[in-house]
Amino acid sequence: MDSSPKKQGGSGELMRRFLPYLMKYKGILFFDLFCAALTTLCDIVLPKIMGTLTNAASGQGAALTVQAVLRLAALYFVLRIIDGAASYFMSGIGHIMGVHIETDMRRDAFDHLLRLDHTYYNNTKVGQIMGRITNDLFDVTEFAHHCPEEFFIAFIKIVASFVILCQASIPLTLVVFACVPLMGVVSVCLNLKLRARFRQQRFQIGELNATIEDSLLGQRVVKAFAAEEQEREKFAEGNRAFERIKTLTYHAMAAFNTSTRLFDGLMYLVVILAGGLALVYGAINAGDLVAYVLYVSTLIATIRRIVEFAEQFQRGMTGIERFLEIMDTPVAIADAPDAQPLVVREGGIEFRDVSFEYPDDHNQVLRHVNLRIRPGESLALVGPSGGGKTTLCNLIPRFYDVTGGEILIDGQNVRHVTLHSLRDAIGVVQQDVYLFSGTVAENIAYGKPGATREEIETAAKLAGADGFVRALKDGYDTYVGERGVKLSGGQKQRIAIARVFLKNPPILLLDEATSALDNESEILVGQSLDKLAKGRTTLTIAHRLTTIQNADRILVLGKDGIEEEGTHTELLAKKGIYYRLWNGLVSGQTL
Ligand code: ADP
Ligand code: MG
Repeated sequence: MDSSPKKQGGSGELMRRFLPYLMKYKGILFFDLFCAALTTLCDIVLPKIMGTLTNAASGQGAALTVQAVLRLAALYFVLRIIDGAASYFMSGIGHIMGVHIETDMRRDAFDHLLRLDHTYYNNTKVGQIMGRITNDLFDVTEFAHHCPEEFFIAFIKIVASFVILCQASIPLTLVVFACVPLMGVVSVCLNLKLRARFRQQRFQIGELNATIEDSLLGQRVVKAFAAEEQEREKFAEGNRAFERIKTLTYHAMAAFNTSTRLFDGLMYLVVILAGGLALVYGAINAGDLVAYVLYVSTLIATIRRIVEFAEQFQRGMTGIERFLEIMDTPVAIADAPDAQPLVVREGGIEFRDVSFEYPDDHNQVLRHVNLRIRPGESLALVGPSGGGKTTLCNLIPRFYDVTGGEILIDGQNVRHVTLHSLRDAIGVVQQDVYLFSGTVAENIAYGKPGATREEIETAAKLAGADGFVRALKDGYDTYVGERGVKLSGGQKQRIAIARVFLKNPPILLLDEATSALDNESEILVGQSLDKLAKGRTTLTIAHRLTTIQNADRILVLGKDGIEEEGTHTELLAKKGIYYRLWNGLVSGQTL
């Protein structure tokens, strides 16, 4: 989804999708609009007061008395008090409504992101998503309250000035308003341009974020290869691309602003010309002309506001568009409508004629695999790297869905049970462990939210982690650093195993869980895993055959599916692929 900045739909469609978020706070919105209406009162009344004063001074209106002046001043004073109160509420309440909307949208976007599957994350840069659910939504907030109130104010002012101007002189007003459609056409064109620029800008900042993220997370590799120059170049390129698109955006904004200034000039020119001539021919008196010019100024100031807000409007629209792109990403792996919770009676797993290809490359990784893992059995899978072992494992908890055949757990198709119950029943330990930033205890408790300290320590003991955890600076309360960088590979792996002990699932998937470890850690972690596997149906993938000798059954997954099957002793006796692998006659790569 971040391959290119694509367009989602017209502004009308975007507004329609956004409206439910806005309407949830309609009480606040309408009060905000009411305050907005109050603030326009002053602006509308002021020219009238000035006109009355001018007419009196030039002897064309009622004679001016002290009382009359005081009355006008008192009226204006009251209006300004009302205006003050209204604008206080408008800017406070309006912004608060905006932040409510932003929070709701962010919650929904994050919820949706949690439901998206591995395929989405394989193809999406985290940096791009970050922008969409942070800065982009801030633009939506600003848009959400400023735009309705600004457009509402503008509407009242334009209608009011039109009516009042017509009272003074209909022909003059028609001439002035004739300029408006011209302005409309120009601004729509420039607005579309601006929107496209904002989209590109958002996309480019997303790319830049993704580059920064990649570079910072990979600092260890960067330093190991002394590749700072290379990273600087990569970053500079993204930084320049952002600069370029921002420059183009400013050009579009400048064209936009200039066009409105020219338009202002045009309107004043019309007033000077037509108003001056009307005065010469006695068609209008001095006071009315002063009021007239002031109303035209109000009108122009209003149109300027609209123009300024057009920019904010486009920013908001871009934000909504990018938010909707997340919301519209289909959830490919979800509960079927009639999904029932999985009931694990014994924990038997069956692959029936399973085929699989990854959605994005159509290369068949698994072809018609038939496989039964008996309840409580410990089954090991060996085979060449890239042969599809991880893929096969990933199909059981539905990280991906099979493209042919079916997988059953105790006779229940995994696609017909709820995802939550399915994943609850399966414990996964992989080669690379992800620890969340937080303490050791919090990371172990991830397997069972709300676990007591006693339960956490018991799990750690079973996983062989208790000893080293206690030796850490703050024991179980030691902060593990981002992604657990403060711990060794073997330590992280044992914390991951403790997590699964605490979760206590009947089915276990161990995907090269010890492959990244040194010999000593491998032995320690191996012992913990043996303990973990007791009494559970276990599927183990290992590239070091020594770690799976004791498995109940070993399968060799080759290019043509399952090529050999048996216990370690049986397979050695067969003198086939396994025998050759065991004796180092062939490597996993060339199998
Ligand atoms: P193994 O675990 O046996 O080493 P994998 O199951 O990881 O093998 O990979 C099997 C094949 O699927 C490989 O050819 C690999 O390139 C491909 N593959 C793995 N993950 C993906 C993915 N997310 N998208 C597309 N192809 C993938
Ligand atoms: Mg693998």
